This record gives sequence, C-alpha cells and structure tokens, in this order.
Amino acid sequence: MLRKSLVISCTIAMAISCTTPSTLPTDRGLVRYEFARVRMGVPFRAVFYAATATKARSAASAIFARLTELDRRLSDWTATSELMRLCAHAGDGEFHEVSSDLLRVLQHAERLAQRTHGAFNVTVGPFVALWRRARKIGKLPSNQALSRAANAVGRKYVQLSPEHSSVLLIQRDMRLDLGGIAKGYAIDQCIELLERHGIHRALIDGGGDIRVSHAPPGKRHWVIAVQSGDSETHERLALVDRAVATSGDTMQFVEIDGVRYSHIIDPRTGLGQTDRRAATVVAKTCIEADGLATAGCVLPTEEAIRVIEACAADGVLHRRRDDVVEMHETTGYRRLLAAAPE
Ligand code: AMP
Ligand code: MG
Repeated sequence: MLRKSLVISCTIAMAISCTTPSTLPTDRGLVRYEFARVRMGVPFRAVFYAATATKARSAASAIFARLTELDRRLSDWTATSELMRLCAHAGDGEFHEVSSDLLRVLQHAERLAQRTHGAFNVTVGPFVALWRRARKIGKLPSNQALSRAANAVGRKYVQLSPEHSSVLLIQRDMRLDLGGIAKGYAIDQCIELLERHGIHRALIDGGGDIRVSHAPPGKRHWVIAVQSGDSETHERLALVDRAVATSGDTMQFVEIDGVRYSHIIDPRTGLGQTDRRAATVVAKTCIEADGLATAGCVLPTEEAIRVIEACAADGVLHRRRDDVVEMHETTGYRRLLAAAPE
C-alpha cells in the first residue's frame, strides 16, 4: 500500500466539553492514555480511557502487535507479506489458503468493487507499479507497458472460496494492492481489540483515518477536525461509534507535462486520476469509510455520492477545476458537523 502522508487530507482528533455526557458502568476512575507508533508506514495513535496504567499499557501493546501482524499480512511493500506471497502464485491455477484477515479484506473489496462497477479495484497493483515508476523517472508508462499491465488487472481474475478460506488468482503477474482499505480494516481491528480489553472510550488514528467508540468520560462525542483536499479550512465532525477517512491527491501525485496524476488509479485508463479530487467519508466502520473515500476519488461525483448513501454512509467530495472548487455532499453530512467550540 502506498504510504500516505498525514497532510493529504488531515484529520485531527480532540475532545471538547459537552453538556449531556453519556455514562457507562465502567466509567469510575478512568484516566486518559495516549500511545503512538509508526505502523503500516504511517503514524498510528491510540487515545483511550482506562482504569489503570497496567491495563492501558497491556491494551496498547496488544494493539501495536496486532498492527504489526496485519502489516505482515496485507502489505504490498514487502515481498514476504502474505499478500505478496499469494500474488507470487498468480496464474498457477490453484486455490491457496489465506488468513481470515486477508479473506475478509478481499471480500469487502469485492463488495465495494461491485457497488462501484469496478472503480474501486484492488487488482490495480500492476498499474500502481507503473505509477510508482513514473513518479521516480518523471515519465508516463508506454502504451505497451500499460496494455501488458492491463492483462493482469480485473476483478474477474480473483476467485474467493470463503468456505475453504482460500483464493485463486487466475492471471499471471497479478498484483493485489490493498492500500485503499487495509488501514481502515486495521483501525477497526484495534477498536475491537480495545473492546475485548474492556476499553470502550477510544479513538484510533491511523495516518489521518480515524475510528472512535464511545465518547470520552463527561463528553458527548469526539470532535474530529477534517481538512479536505488542499483547502485551508477545517471542518469539525462530532462523532460517536463512527469512522472517518479521507482520500485525495494533495500529497501523493506525480506531475508530468503539466498534468497531475494522483496515486489513485482510474482502472479504465491504468493511469493516475487526473481529475482533482478529495473525499471525506464517515461510516460505521473504518474499512467502509476508507474504501468509499478512495472510490469517491474515482467515480463521477454524483455517482460517488449515491454509492456513499447506498452504503448508509455520509461524505463530502471536493473537485477542483482551475481555481474553482465544487463541493458535493450527502444529505446527512451537515448533521455530523460539531457546534462551534464553547
Ligand atoms: P487511499 O489513500 O485510502 O485513498 O488509498 C490509495 C491507495 O489505494 C493507492 O495508493 C493505491 O495503493 C490503492 N489504489 C489506487 N487506485 C485504486 C483503485 N482504483 N481502487 C482501489 N485501490 C486503489
Ligand atoms: Mg481509502
């Protein structure tokens, strides 16, 4: 997956005071803890409320160990990851057993690919490899290289067998890229892990994509500041038990002959998206928000909004044309905005 800079579309989390806080039976004596480490190539931060320092430390080390495990399973940056080992079997005609993590992420990717008519497509790996090379040498791939890569791209070339927890990759040279959803899945896993540790008031921030559970003690919600695209202003979202993810081309792009190609690939051309987009999506889980934000940068804007709403999510898309920024949002998005600070 591509390393995304925090500033692409950055989300900053903070808690503000509120008049009618919710209470849980486990709230007595809770103290705020914060832990941070780099995982999956981005800074991960866990903020949560726990009864003792020992409980907090043990939950934090479980989270970071789990993130290390997920990176080893889902990354496309290391040849030894489970994902890359699976891709090494592409074209051998056999199903290969995979971990439940990899299977779940691929199942989610397939559902989203169906909903977006292939705009979200984790088989774009060979195109991503060409994009990375183009960024390195400052030159677009040749038509020949693009059509060679295209032979190994296509949802229809991935077959999942959930009952045997296995996957068949039909074409040779296929390369799956989970950069558009793996971080969201990892963030969801951290929240679930904290729940199992009895920690219910938490926020996990993975390089700017965030999921929160219950609000901090004495507060009604978490307030997350979201900066979409290259706009100077932040919007503040009031969230409980929700995730927010952002995507765009603000930091990850290559400019060739005056054209800016985003790291998000248009699967129809095999090239980076040239339409200047930024997307912010709020959903129940972070895998959904993450995937929909990426898809929101590829689909035509009206269709993107329809798909986000059909997934019971909310979001806003910014599209820059010359100096004009068009904004498209779901009907529920404004309701998520926090009141001005007291
Ligand atoms: P995100 O930062 O979550 O929007 O993810 C962007 C990353 O998703 C890229 O860096 C690629 O690794 C991957 N990607 C690029 N294009 C697509 C696409 N059309 N569908 C799914 N994943 C993509
Ligand atoms: Mg994404």
